[in-house]
Amino acid sequence: MTPFTYTRAADVTQAVRLGGVAGARYLGGGTNLVDLMRETIEAPASLVDVAGLPAGIEELPDGGALIGAAARNTAVAENRLVRSRYPLLARAIVAGASAQIRNMATVGGNLLQRTRCAYFYDDEGSRCNKRHPGEGCDAIGGFNRDHAIFGASSACVAVQPSDMCIALAALDAVVHVRSGDGERHLAFTELHRLPGDRPDIETVLRPGELITAIQLPPLAFAARSTYRKVRDRSSYAFALVSVAAALDVEDGQVRDVRIALGGVAPKPWRALRAEAALRAGPARTDAFEAAAEAELADARPLSGNGFKIDLVRRTLVAVLEQLAGETA
Ligand SMILES: Cc1cc2nc3c(=O)[nH]c(=O)nc-3n(C[C@H](O)[C@H](O)[C@H](O)COP(=O)(O)OP(=O)(O)OC[C@H]3O[C@@H](n4cnc5c(N)ncnc54)[C@H](O)[C@@H]3O)c2cc1C
Ligand code: SF4
Repeated sequence: MTPFTYTRAADVTQAVRLGGVAGARYLGGGTNLVDLMRETIEAPASLVDVAGLPAGIEELPDGGALIGAAARNTAVAENRLVRSRYPLLARAIVAGASAQIRNMATVGGNLLQRTRCAYFYDDEGSRCNKRHPGEGCDAIGGFNRDHAIFGASSACVAVQPSDMCIALAALDAVVHVRSGDGERHLAFTELHRLPGDRPDIETVLRPGELITAIQLPPLAFAARSTYRKVRDRSSYAFALVSVAAALDVEDGQVRDVRIALGGVAPKPWRALRAEAALRAGPARTDAFEAAAEAELADARPLSGNGFKIDLVRRTLVAVLEQLAGETA
């Protein structure tokens, strides 16, 4: 491991001051960053520990919620407000990692965890444009079963691995960030970027920007929502495909819907085409299948992951049927 300095930030102002220095990185629970440092894939000159910064979960006057970026994943999943108003978020968190990792991992760190593409971790023997821009991508002609069917580029086909992020995309969450220039708020769906020809740049955050909180807007029908994850094993496995959805049905008609897909794209994939196909239509299986087809029209499978097309279709339809049954 390359030598580095470590400072535990006392408050947001100090964190931002130290984090704005070249070579600095923020440290949440360390469950991803420390692994990457051990593998020498990341080599920060200094670590600014932000795990002691605000971690509260509070109800907002408009009925939404504000979650401090240092909140541990477990605390969010177990919070009564989150469980009752945003069950898809609680379920997404519990579907990820293990209890021990969720106890350590913070919200801010979960958002910025890096891909699990095996070639990205193989610094010795594989070419990877995300590690070394311009080097090439061994996943494209190689083992790409876990990789993207939406939003990939000729430079990178990796998927964003977070479960929590899929629920946050469906909820239209807002990310609060702070830097020496002040505070700004980003739509969650704008936080992660598609790879294009620079897969090493994964978000729109500017150097040194600190995530301070996640804001959940009020969404009454999210009380009836869920998250379903399809994976190879029931624990310690990332999603092959996942669906986060909330469905508002009245008199057999879809009044409103939110859908995001995981395991299929370099960023949490908001299924806007499926949503548009469903709104004001019947809450029936044939309409759910048509919505899945509308979303999948843009899918571009690789040599090893064509099975994800059918998996998305079946998982999305099953989730919508479940939610329609609950709201009938
Ligand atoms: C064995 C294993 C299995 C896993 N399985 C799953 C799974 O199934 N699903 C899933 O979703 N995840 C899974 N994970 C990943 C886990 O969820 C992440 O490692 C964790 O959420 C990262 O949070 P952290 O606080 O530890 O982040 P860290 O490792 O501390 O940091 C991650 C990144 O975020 C940055 N960062 C941290 N906090 C901030 C902040 N406030 N502002 C700006 N930048 C910040 C860091 O600089 C770093 O780049 C797994 C991990 C392991 C080790
Ligand atoms: S898919 Fe992306 S992360 Fe994986 S090897 Fe290719 S460039 Fe690297």
